[in-house]
Parts: sequence; C-alpha cells; structure tokens
Amino acid sequence: MTPEELTEAFVKAGYPKFRAQQVFQWLHLKQVLNVSEMTNLKVDFKAYLTENFLFPDYIIHQKTISPVDQTAKYLFGFKEKSVEAVWLPYENRQSICISVQSGCSLDCSFCATGKIKFKGNLTAAEIISQVYGMQKLYDRRITNVVFMGMGEPFYNYENVMRAAAILAHQNGMNLSRRRITISTSGVLPGIKRFIEEKQPYRLALSLHAVFAATRRNIMDIEEKFSFTEVLEYLYQKRNLLQQGQLMFEYILIDGVNISPEDADELARWAKRLKAKVNLIPMNTELNGMKRPSEKMIYDFWRRLVEQKIVAVNRKSPAKDIQGACGMLAGEQSDYTL
Ligand code: SAH
Ligand code: SF4
Repeated sequence: MTPEELTEAFVKAGYPKFRAQQVFQWLHLKQVLNVSEMTNLKVDFKAYLTENFLFPDYIIHQKTISPVDQTAKYLFGFKEKSVEAVWLPYENRQSICISVQSGCSLDCSFCATGKIKFKGNLTAAEIISQVYGMQKLYDRRITNVVFMGMGEPFYNYENVMRAAAILAHQNGMNLSRRRITISTSGVLPGIKRFIEEKQPYRLALSLHAVFAATRRNIMDIEEKFSFTEVLEYLYQKRNLLQQGQLMFEYILIDGVNISPEDADELARWAKRLKAKVNLIPMNTELNGMKRPSEKMIYDFWRRLVEQKIVAVNRKSPAKDIQGACGMLAGEQSDYTL
C-alpha cells in the first residue's frame, strides 16, 4: 500500500494519520516486515495491524554465489509461487534483477523462463520482498533495480508500477526513478499505458529482431503485437519520452538476427527513436540457437557504432550460476512458502 492508502485505512479505523508514516517507514525505510519488531507502535495498534493486514512473507530456499564474478542468485519462495532474483555487483553501482511473475506466459524460443510452468503474477509486496530480502544480506546499498527477471512486467502492470513507485518513494528506499528499468517483450497496451501515464522509469524494449518474419520465428508475442506497431507508436509519442529513457535489447543469435541488413535496420530504428541499444550475445544454447563468434559480435556492434548509435555489448554476468539474462528457470514446485 502507498502512504496515501495507509493513511486512508488507518484514519477510517480511527487511528491518527501519523501512524501511516510510521508504518510506511518501518516497512520501506527500515525494511522491517514483522509487526512485532515495530517498537514505537502501541500494543492495540499492532494488534489491529496483524488482524487487518497481510505482511509479506518469504523464504530464501537457495543461494548460488558465483566464484567468477561474485554475482548471486536467490530462489525466493512465496505462497504457492517461487521466483529467482539476482544480485549483480559492479564497481560503481549495485544492481539487482527481480522477477514479476513465476514463470512466464510467453514462450520466446531463446529464453529458459518460458519453458517452465507458468504460475502467475506476483503481488507488489512479493516483488518488493525480493529487493528488501537481498538488501538485508549485504552491507552495500542497492542503487539500480531492473525488472528483467522472470515474467512479463506489462502482463502484471498494476503490481509492477505499484512496486516501482514504492521503491522510489522518498519516505522509503528512495531509489532514483532513472535507476529503475522495466523491460517488456513488447506488450503494446502496457507500453501505451506506461507512456500516457508518463511513468518516469527507464523502458527497455526486447526487440531481438527488426524484420517481422524473423521476430515471429523467435517470439510468439509478435503475432499479437507487431514490433512495427510498437515502434511507430513510440515514434508518435516521442515527445513524451525523456532523453535516455528508451533502450532496445537485442540478443545476438548465430545465423538468426546478425546480418549487416539486421544491423542497418536496427540502427535506423534506434536513430529514429533516439534509443540506446543493449546487445546481449545469447547466453545459453536453446532450441538449436547459439551465441555467435566474438568476431561476429564485434562486427555487428561496429556497424551500429559507425552509424552513430550508442550500443553496448552487455556482459551478462552470472552465467556460471545460471543467473544471466534468460536463464532463470529455477526448479519451482517444491520451493514455495
Ligand atoms: N519478459 C520481459 C522481461 C524479462 S527480461 C522481456 O522479455 O523483456 C529478460 C531479458 O533477457 C530480455 O531482454 C530477454 O530477451 C533476455 N534473454 C532471454 N533469453 C536470453 C538468452 N538466452 N540469452 C540472452 N538474453 C536472453
Ligand atoms: Fe517471457 Fe521475457 Fe523470457 Fe520472453 S524473454 S519468455 S517474455 S521472460
């Protein structure tokens, strides 16, 4: 619940307004999720809280820490669902990658998450619990949150936006809005809502192909919402986008989407939309698809950069612990609360 919603509920139940601020701070600034530990609250108010509200509960079932790059993957168990989240330390920032659904209802051919059983949406509390749960384990403060774990954020729009707003709230964790990134495979109604509501977070569009026939082969979402429709919409609304807000994600798959024509068409769209391009060489081998050679990766990148596109070759850490992009497929069924 937002501070406003807490205030409304508490006042209606006859409690003073300031209780809402106290409770919000316990939950989101101090990240204490257990009412018995909220020491400045009166006994009767604590009883009211436990009787009338659900507090998030989770178990971390597994931790896998990479000896190679110190990234770590955590398997969170919630009621009837479980998800994976990843801790990604960098020199100058601390990122985490969190999940929004248990599994994914889509089935992109290159992604391991799409292959496991879909168990449904997480609540906003479950999404936030992954952040606080990981923060609790480390001294380093989380600076960046990417919604790039399991699931499609725009098929769980309300809970995702609620979670992001609470993470960015000044009385809580106070994360910078520009350091929250939401990644979508291209769910047009969600994108429209995001733009029209002028959401302040960064938007990553998982493009992965710039010709319809290719995209249709690797992403089933293309049947429903064609990428040209999505990109034309974004072009029309380009005045509503802030500088640097939009980026394209583009997995490099050997023999599928890395020809010079692909690079040129990608460059054309990136230029039109002023989007930065994140190249992600395919991490796994799946359905006969594999990572291109380093030379092919370099050539593709080079062709974009020569056309003045800001393109980065995303390193994708955590590969050795199956925690990199598209590899989250933790064994789920036995790991709920
Ligand atoms: N469902 C959303 C959010 C999940 S993000 C989306 O698809 O955008 C997961 C990111 O990892 C996406 O950019 C996805 O395309 C990428 N990914 C999936 N499988 C991958 C693989 N095998 N190698 C590299 N990246 C992959
Ligand atoms: Fe779902 Fe994204 Fe994986 Fe596609 S890439 S199956 S949309 S999580």
